[in-house]
Amino acid sequence: MSETKTYPACPKVSLIEGDGIGKEISAATLRAIEAAGGKFDWEPVTAGLTALETVHDPLPQATINSISTNGLALKGPLGTPIGGGFKSVNVTLRQHFDLYANVRPAKTLAGVPSRYDNVDVLLVRENTEGLYAGIEHYVGAGRSAAESIAIITKSSSQRVIVYAFEHARREGRKKVTCVHKANILKMSNGLFLDMFRQVAKEYPDIEADDMIVDATAMRMVTNPEWFDVVVTMNLFGDILSDLTAGLIGGLGVAPAANIGEGGYAIFEAVHGTAPDIAGQGIANPTGLMLSAAMLIDHVGQTEAAARLRKGIYAALADDATRTRDLGGNANTAQFTDGVIRFME
Ligand code: NAD
Repeated sequence: MSETKTYPACPKVSLIEGDGIGKEISAATLRAIEAAGGKFDWEPVTAGLTALETVHDPLPQATINSISTNGLALKGPLGTPIGGGFKSVNVTLRQHFDLYANVRPAKTLAGVPSRYDNVDVLLVRENTEGLYAGIEHYVGAGRSAAESIAIITKSSSQRVIVYAFEHARREGRKKVTCVHKANILKMSNGLFLDMFRQVAKEYPDIEADDMIVDATAMRMVTNPEWFDVVVTMNLFGDILSDLTAGLIGGLGVAPAANIGEGGYAIFEAVHGTAPDIAGQGIANPTGLMLSAAMLIDHVGQTEAAARLRKGIYAALADDATRTRDLGGNANTAQFTDGVIRFME
């Protein structure tokens, strides 16, 4: 699995700047990575609306080839037309590279308005199956009902649960909680929970427990500090990862990684293309910068990742360098200058 892979000192990484504010936040992020001492050989490729305009294809074969060869990508936000047009490039990339684990850390950021000051949850969402397998049909005359089928397999459950425990161990975390609804969905969710219990036995150094999803939702908003690593199925993970982002100040500051077999990994900001502020130089690059820190950790350049995070956290904590969307006064360049200055 990906965690055993070793990378060269200067790995080649496909770089998708993204649409809207993507260009601005990507440029800022590359500056900050370089200043932190991250060593990468970037290969710029296009996707999304930018690619549609330039090469008439939202996901050009050259981009797929680049990610196939490099195994790693850093990706800005991509626009998706609503109610028509092409299928989400984000979803297509996830499926094409079988990126089975969506990893979403949510850690309190000093200076970013939020309800709590002690959140540090790492949510690992199964990314390929469950209700999102997309198996649906209408039943009855006149489409009077519809059925959706959730697919849960032992193999996909096992690999994402192993990933969660490996990640917990690597980061020195203490506990992994499996979130499910096995009291009602006894077969599908029961199977996921059984796999969790089996895998947990291989990690006696890490506490393992499980919680029903509705109780989880309540406890996350009343006692978020209770959670450490959470592993769950696709639909619950989709919802709870936005909930945890909400606990730390919203999607604008949330990073994410999509992890596949054999070291494939795509790191991305969770927010969208922010067309309303694109081109104004005021976008907040925190989400992409924190995603880049995950990439830097992933390839083993841990000191550079720590320097980058130190700079980001300090720049967010200071009114003069925090961006306007978070109540500060800075534009993208001023924030990035602050990140670099605070690394020292
Ligand atoms: P959005 O996240 O782009 O914007 C929502 C609001 O948040 C806007 O007011 C925007 O200005 C603000 N915002 C978002 N990111 C910001 C940042 N980094 N700095 C400052 N402000 C920021 O969501 P939307 O408007 O619903 O979607 C716009 C486009 O983005 C759509 O085409 C959608 O499909 C796409 N999208 C892409 C991704 C992705 O690629 N991961 C995720 C979500 C939406």
